[in-house]
Amino acid sequence: MEDLGRFLGLVAEEAGTPARFIEIGEEDLGEGDVLIEIMRSSLNYKDGLAATATAPILRRYPSVIGIDLAGRVRSGGDSGLQPGDEVLVAGSGLGEEHPGGYTRFARVPSSWCVRLPTGLDAEGAMTLGTAGLTAMLACMALERNGNTPESLGELPVLVTGAAGGVGSIAIAVLSRLGYRVVALTGRSQESDYLQQLGADRVVPREALAAGRGPLSSAEYGAAIDVVGGSTLAELLRRIAPHGTVAACGLAGGADLSSTVYPFILRGVTLAGVNSVHPPGEAREAAWSRLAALLPGEVLDLLGRVEPLSKVPELAPEVLAGRIRGRVVLDVTA
Ligand code: NDP
Repeated sequence: MEDLGRFLGLVAEEAGTPARFIEIGEEDLGEGDVLIEIMRSSLNYKDGLAATATAPILRRYPSVIGIDLAGRVRSGGDSGLQPGDEVLVAGSGLGEEHPGGYTRFARVPSSWCVRLPTGLDAEGAMTLGTAGLTAMLACMALERNGNTPESLGELPVLVTGAAGGVGSIAIAVLSRLGYRVVALTGRSQESDYLQQLGADRVVPREALAAGRGPLSSAEYGAAIDVVGGSTLAELLRRIAPHGTVAACGLAGGADLSSTVYPFILRGVTLAGVNSVHPPGEAREAAWSRLAALLPGEVLDLLGRVEPLSKVPELAPEVLAGRIRGRVVLDVTA
């Protein structure tokens, strides 16, 4: 076993207590055949919950938090990964049932590692992170249900929570795939940013205020929703026949109170997205497509880099929906 010495990690020591930086060692990294020297991580909504102990994200204590990482393989055992190979891990249980990425090293099962696709370095990979994977999987859910730019024609795709991580990346991906995109945001000051990403139109949250009756006019061909709650219920009423709503998140609430009318009168599909354990080959396909679709200037627009030490300060900000796009964390700083 290589002696890694002692290093800092952001650790949740027990349920209900905010995570704090403490010294850890190799014995705190969990089981796995691949040892990774972490270069970058990222800040997701779920990391905000774990860092502040607002929701029980961790399944074991004590544990390093952080659901994403990108770095270089130090040793790959019999996995086929060689020292120096650049990999990312997003989801798969990292930072939930297994020690996470908010530190200098990780030991994980090789099956969780994705080689960095051509065109992505560690910083680019973490600009996307779990948020990017989720956005791409949501777009793939629309395609799987036949909602292509051609089939939707002039009907736009609605993206909620638009200025956040998943929303921003969903807009960039959809527009590059040729969809018309409407961005729903509570932050009108981010309109220019959303249009630069590719939104054709930006509408305020109030545009989706709850209406009456089982259905409303069919304004949107499909939707990607990160907000949940009454936002999801209302947008279901406004989806055109045979449209798909990819439900990813609960930034506005976990409840869903709807009727079956969108489903039985318009054939609307409600498609769930789970980025932690995506089905079959979807994870690798999603990462290759993200790398091919989003050029460096879009990644620059989407993200900013902060030192890992700022997580305790940034975590409440992501939960409050005040972070624009993505925060990449430099764990080496
Ligand atoms: P962010 O905080 O970056 O974005 C969420 C956005 O939602 C905010 O920026 C804001 O956008 C909007 N929002 C926040 N609070 C409210 C509210 N009360 N009512 C309406 N809109 C609100 O988070 P992420 O993009 O990282 O994650 C978004 C959601 O997706 C989270 O619930 C997260 O848990 C979930 N998620 C699910 C995954 C999965 O596998 N299913 C994976 C990744 C994330 P604006 O200001 O533009 O309105």
